[in-house]
Amino acid sequence: MHASTPFPADDLFNPARPDSPVRVVVAGGGAAGLMAAGQAALAGAEVVLLEKMGRPGRKLCITGKGRCNLTNVAPLPEFLGHFGPTGPFLRQAFHRFFSAELLEFFQELGLATVTERGGRVFPASGKAPEVLSVFERWLDRCGVIVRTGMAVDRMAIEGGAITGVVCGGRTIACDALILATGGASYPLTGSTGDGYRLAEEAGHRLVPVRPALVPLLAEGSPAGRMAGLQLRNIRVRLFIDGRKRDEAFGELAFTEDGLSGPVILTLSGRIVDALGEGRDIHLLLDLKPALDEKKLDARLVRDFEQRRKEPLESVLRGLLPREMVTVALDETGLDAETLAGAIRSEERRRLRHWLKNFRLRITGHRPLAEAIVTAGGVDTREVDPRTMASRLVRGLYFAGELLDLQADTGGYNLQAAFSTGWLAGRSAAAGKVERQETF
Ligand SMILES: Cc1cc2nc3c(=O)[nH]c(=O)nc-3n(C[C@H](O)[C@H](O)[C@H](O)COP(=O)(O)OP(=O)(O)OC[C@H]3O[C@@H](n4cnc5c(N)ncnc54)[C@H](O)[C@@H]3O)c2cc1C
Repeated sequence: MHASTPFPADDLFNPARPDSPVRVVVAGGGAAGLMAAGQAALAGAEVVLLEKMGRPGRKLCITGKGRCNLTNVAPLPEFLGHFGPTGPFLRQAFHRFFSAELLEFFQELGLATVTERGGRVFPASGKAPEVLSVFERWLDRCGVIVRTGMAVDRMAIEGGAITGVVCGGRTIACDALILATGGASYPLTGSTGDGYRLAEEAGHRLVPVRPALVPLLAEGSPAGRMAGLQLRNIRVRLFIDGRKRDEAFGELAFTEDGLSGPVILTLSGRIVDALGEGRDIHLLLDLKPALDEKKLDARLVRDFEQRRKEPLESVLRGLLPREMVTVALDETGLDAETLAGAIRSEERRRLRHWLKNFRLRITGHRPLAEAIVTAGGVDTREVDPRTMASRLVRGLYFAGELLDLQADTGGYNLQAAFSTGWLAGRSAAAGKVERQETF
């Protein structure tokens, strides 16, 4: 049967014959579900992949700004560190199938990759949809039955074990179900959080679902006045209730209502949690991180001396992007027309301090729908890290962002989806064999 043939296919709704191979249903055709389905098929199962959208992998196709940052070549300890407290759960999945295995997997399927700055790996073509095409061809060859436009509404559980899934009021019998329905961000891709409800119905606890890698809202007008401006090589220090809690270095973008860009997204998870606790959040932007206060002062003295007959505003244009100059003047209370040669040392100190400590109060964050990743989800304490199996319901497995896993940007989240998908697929196919032998 050809993958992605449209529904209906009544054969799916017939009970599996006693002599038929293990039937594994995978709910969700994202990174985790695609990998899980193929691996379960390779391990000998009859596999049905149910995807509620018209085509699987819609989120995959928009990852990495359309280029798909597949993974990262960072060594394991550093890699796990990018997941914060959710990292240790992944150790066993990564032990079985990590970045090297993923790259080998893609190489065998004919997908060439390139490794870029920061160890980030992309398809050499720079096209995320090519990754999806590779998966679709592979699933077809593995014999996976892909049904699109089919949402899993409910699970059939009898005697503490999965017996099927319910789609549109009809039951598809199965021996194992892999829930890979993703998180709840970018819902237009199909990731609307269905799996959270399904997991809860099966008795699983959820760690509160909240946005991670999300743009932030800043108080007042300074950020909005620079909307669209992108800055590189910026150091951002995070202060919570007046105490420095974190810092990050890299690219930053100003938006209509606040801040975005990799450095902000990296800090956002912690900020979302702190905002939820009603804490006071400030970011201090160091716009000249390569110069310490002394060197920056020497640079200002030199500039003001060399251009002593010019107004401050025009000298500042040599130091800052155009959009920032009026903001700098407003924030420091300096006069645009003052001639550089007439700037007093106290005024220079004020400017220097601002350049190293541009302060923005953070008042909120953009909604979950706009987050790159959903933090929280199925509590991993109720999932076996060696198999991705539920500890509560036999035959139920989890993979991908539905689990309480979230990492920084850099390819870590997709690797987690691929690795947990790999493990869930292999385990679900093997699990039935074990169950058949036991019962
Ligand atoms: C804009 C953007 C850019 C990103 N870029 C990167 C990047 O470059 N690198 C990186 O590592 N990570 C990136 N991420 C994060 C990464 O995309 C996710 O972590 C990853 O896609 C999670 O995979 P998943 O398979 O768990 O879920 P998803 O990819 O969300 O897939 C879940 C699938 O399940 C389907 N589904 C949902 N409910 C049901 C149901 N009831 N029945 C059947 N099917 C259902 C959905 O339609 C969807 O196709 C990015 C995310 C976004 C939003």
